Amino acid sequence: MSKDMIAFIDLKAQQAVIREKVDAGLARVLDHGAYVMGPEVFEFESRLASFAGAQHAISCANGTDALHLVLMCEGVGPGDAVFVPSFTFVATGEAPLLVGATPVFVDVCEDSYNMDPQSLLLAIASAKEAGLKPRVVMPVDLFGQPANYPEIIEIAKANELVVVADAAQGFGGSLHGRRVGSWADYTTTSFFPAKPLGCYGDGGAIFTDDADKAAILKSIRIHGQGSDKYDNVRLGVNSRLDSFQAAVLIEKLVIFEAELEARDQIAKRYNAGLAGHVVVPEVIDGAFSSWAQYTIRVKEREHFAESLKNEGVPTAIYYPRPLHTQAPYQGYPAPTNGLPVTEKLASEVISLPMHPYLDQKTQSRIIEQIRKEVNS
Ligand SMILES: *Cc1c(COP(=O)(O)O)cnc(C)c1O
Repeated sequence: MSKDMIAFIDLKAQQAVIREKVDAGLARVLDHGAYVMGPEVFEFESRLASFAGAQHAISCANGTDALHLVLMCEGVGPGDAVFVPSFTFVATGEAPLLVGATPVFVDVCEDSYNMDPQSLLLAIASAKEAGLKPRVVMPVDLFGQPANYPEIIEIAKANELVVVADAAQGFGGSLHGRRVGSWADYTTTSFFPAKPLGCYGDGGAIFTDDADKAAILKSIRIHGQGSDKYDNVRLGVNSRLDSFQAAVLIEKLVIFEAELEARDQIAKRYNAGLAGHVVVPEVIDGAFSSWAQYTIRVKEREHFAESLKNEGVPTAIYYPRPLHTQAPYQGYPAPTNGLPVTEKLASEVISLPMHPYLDQKTQSRIIEQIRKEVNS
């Protein structure tokens, strides 16, 4: 590489801001020794629930488990249809299959990259046609932008579907002033390090306003535990957030709001510098994105990525292959008109460096290189 490489996500810059507090938090865990289900876990859950505007936050081992736990909690299984986008991270499609249910793929909108309500209606018809019982819809807040919750919830009500929002990327975002985490029946998120709110390992959480469901989820995450440690009242799994990660997350949550503001400013600067040169991302009316990714669309993506890399600008492709084209996810129902927008986006999208500590000078260098590349 000829020039020094810009960071795609700069976790070190963030760590410098919170390092002392994190050190102190980790030291407290070492001192009390409650590594699993220590006090940090409950303290973090309570702070997280109030941040999200949800009654209950249930932490777990990762964002994939969060989806799996919710489906177990709702008793979803064989013969049930779970509506998911195909243009997403693999976990969204994985969760229904893990409980023996059938993923039914839904196309996305060309402006938001999120689940298309019209396509959802067609997918519901396809599921019924295939003899499945429509049970759950799982919209994804792709790249940080909230899904079209009002329309999806309306369709869900009319069809008796449970809404499970996969906000692994969108946590921190809001729609019409209401935070992600308080819209759906359940909202899940991930604390994988690269997510907008990440820890230093794996972690995840589920939000719900339903006290009974929250109690069931807390039981499922510890082997279906009943009132006593060795009393198991239902099938469960082992999926807990550990105390060290909770200690890290407590400090990260303190600076999260300021980081979201910084991400939004950076996205606006990208938009101003790149509009007219490439297809820039659109945010739907009333939405605040957590900007998990800043994703543009270009033609001849491979050449574009290679040229930028040679100039020290890293890029990443989320996602080059839609789920329905990959072996474990092939052959499941889809809308009668297929998934044309998904297929088109998967061949054009490319994401640019995005994190709250991207300084103006570095960002100007990125913008300049992109303009040079597309106008050459
Ligand atoms: C990251 C991600 C997940 C899974 O999170 P993990 O913590 O890595 O298991 C699920 N859904 C989406 C959309 C994601 O981006």
